[in-house]
Amino acid sequence: MNNEDLYRTRATPIEEVAERLGIRIVRHKALCPFHDDKHPSLHFNVKRNRFCCYACGARGNVIDLVMRYNNFGFKEAAMWIDGGDHTIAAGSGVMPVGRSGQTDFRGVATVDVEYLSTLIVHPTIEGKAADFLFVERKIDPKVAQWCGLTSVTEPTPCWRWGKAFYDAPSLLIPYRDVDGRLLSVQGRYLGTEDKPRFRFPRGSHVGMYNKPMIRCLTPGDELWITEGPSDCWAMMSAGHKAVAIPSATTLTMGDIRLINNGLPEGVTLHMMPDRDRPGMELFQALKRHFPNLKGHVLPDGVKDYGEYWKTR
Ligand SMILES: [Zn+2]
Repeated sequence: MNNEDLYRTRATPIEEVAERLGIRIVRHKALCPFHDDKHPSLHFNVKRNRFCCYACGARGNVIDLVMRYNNFGFKEAAMWIDGGDHTIAAGSGVMPVGRSGQTDFRGVATVDVEYLSTLIVHPTIEGKAADFLFVERKIDPKVAQWCGLTSVTEPTPCWRWGKAFYDAPSLLIPYRDVDGRLLSVQGRYLGTEDKPRFRFPRGSHVGMYNKPMIRCLTPGDELWITEGPSDCWAMMSAGHKAVAIPSATTLTMGDIRLINNGLPEGVTLHMMPDRDRPGMELFQALKRHFPNLKGHVLPDGVKDYGEYWKTR
């Protein structure tokens, strides 16, 4: 990558890059993914093409954002941004293609699936993670078990010779393909320190969450689309069959084809969008892919399905 390429990469509109990462922006602001943010503290300066969090101080340009969010190295982050012409393919497991059109393998990490499997093979949900799931969120333990959730109480690497990656305490969330093959493991930090809340190992390409659910559908079933794993667990705790699509850009072509052509006869799609603009925008974006998606309205004053479920 020469200086001219780098200059162009740095000029990629920061809000576009943030949205590709799954950060939801309303009027140049978003919930900061780098600390436990309750009100949008992350600001985007589109003129200077930079981000800044007024709460935790995280700041930088597009490359810094992708490096920190995805735990990427500099080169990998720049390549990820350059792959932006292939937004839908971003999660499909294809290698990033450089401006020259040649696949560039240098510096691209692949997920150590074999090692990650060992972390989740005997799921245990302890301490903070148990409080978070079963007390705070009222998730049915059977759902946690079905999803193979587990917790770590000490910092844990994400590949066999790596240094600690998942901060402690964290919940580990396995992402699988429709046939149950592990794709990657997302960490959900549960501590109080200023650390990123959600983390994927470098090179993760996961797409939709809870894909094995697709194989459990029978003709005439309802499939609920939620906006993240925890809403998905809440939906399942309520007895629904659910998957999660945090943003339209995380969808892969494979996911879209699967939902449009790979479901048993008469399966209907449902969604109860979050009561905010990003929620409605996601609903509209998904409706373009899935014209039969049926919208449902959350009760007044309830932000998302997870909140509805825990306070019902
Ligand atoms: Zn922050």
